[in-house]
Amino acid sequence: MNPFTYDQLPARIVFGAGKLAEVGAEVERLGAQRVMLISDQATSMSAEKIRGQLQGRLALGWDEVAQHVPVDLAERARTAATEARIDAVVCIGGGSSTGLAKAMALSHEVPILAVPTTYAGSEQTTIYGLTGGRHKQTGKNPVVLPRTVIYDPELTVGLPPNVTGPSAFNALAHSVEALYAPGNNPVTSALALEGVRAIHRSLPRVMAAPDDIDARGTLLFGAYLSGIALGTTSTGLHHKLCHVLGGRFNLVHADAHSVILPHAIAFNAPALPAEMARLAEALGVPGGDPAAALWDLAVASKVPTRLADLTGHDGLLKRDDLPGAAHAAAEEITVNPRPLTEADLLGLLERAYEGERP
Ligand code: NAD
Repeated sequence: MNPFTYDQLPARIVFGAGKLAEVGAEVERLGAQRVMLISDQATSMSAEKIRGQLQGRLALGWDEVAQHVPVDLAERARTAATEARIDAVVCIGGGSSTGLAKAMALSHEVPILAVPTTYAGSEQTTIYGLTGGRHKQTGKNPVVLPRTVIYDPELTVGLPPNVTGPSAFNALAHSVEALYAPGNNPVTSALALEGVRAIHRSLPRVMAAPDDIDARGTLLFGAYLSGIALGTTSTGLHHKLCHVLGGRFNLVHADAHSVILPHAIAFNAPALPAEMARLAEALGVPGGDPAAALWDLAVASKVPTRLADLTGHDGLLKRDDLPGAAHAAAEEITVNPRPLTEADLLGLLERAYEGERP
């Protein structure tokens, strides 16, 4: 085995159906007295249950959340947090709720207890993001890593299929890219491959029966492992492309993932024979083509497979939009296992636009 150095991230994890009931005890464990509770419309009923558990410890309820954490929203929430003299944040919801909690931790240096209800994985990373205008600024700071995470699959049962599928592919992409992204090591690869296995075996079941708690639990477990994989490695070609597409056209964050992932992997596969062999095994096709297996999983899970079907701020994405995106991505992608050009990226995006099986 090759030598390696690994900064393992600290966090307390409480996992299981019904564990929402333990938020109060976990807040007490953190020693918090003045909690800010962040939720969104979709998680308001669960937030109500948390309010009941916090009782006198609730200092501020905040239910305005937006994708990519707009700066003006973060500033308003920070002002309210200062006035309420908060000493901890509890957030319940998807990556957008967690993202706002991270903005609070960044400014107020308070611990976060996160209750994720999608598969985005932000609760396992030190990455934060804030958006002003059309520019998203991201950074890393250990202070934004949630101190406690409660994973309760019951909270994900109401997640609609059009969020569940792409969000699960967002998680899958974290694990897949962790196999080769800078920061990778044998521990992160082991976690990532188990994440792929868990998502691969549970996602079609969840899409067929959204209230199957066992399948939801396995999917959430896969997303948790994928979040660790992302949090301790970094992102690569696939995420950079999704980031550029999302930023330029204001796509829903998770939607680009299921479309791009098979094509990004098909492009990089020739440079990563050992990693791709392990990925193929984890995707249930030992000796087979992992890019095709990812595409087949996308089709089986009824998630988007064509860029042409995605809607941005100017309506459906157009073929003419692709050269600009390829140019921007080429400027951003400085490290990749296989050397690439702007023309390579345009070719990849065109194949993703048509939704061809790689
Ligand atoms: P999201 O938080 O915007 O949620 C997507 C939709 O699902 C929303 O409409 C939300 O209301 C709804 N929803 C959430 N939970 C629900 C539930 N239990 N039932 C019904 N509906 C529910 O989207 P997301 O994909 O979870 O997160 C995306 C954001 O997270 C982006 O801003 C992205 O950049 C960020 N992100 C950050 C990191 C990181 O490490 N910092 C990692 C991944 C994603």
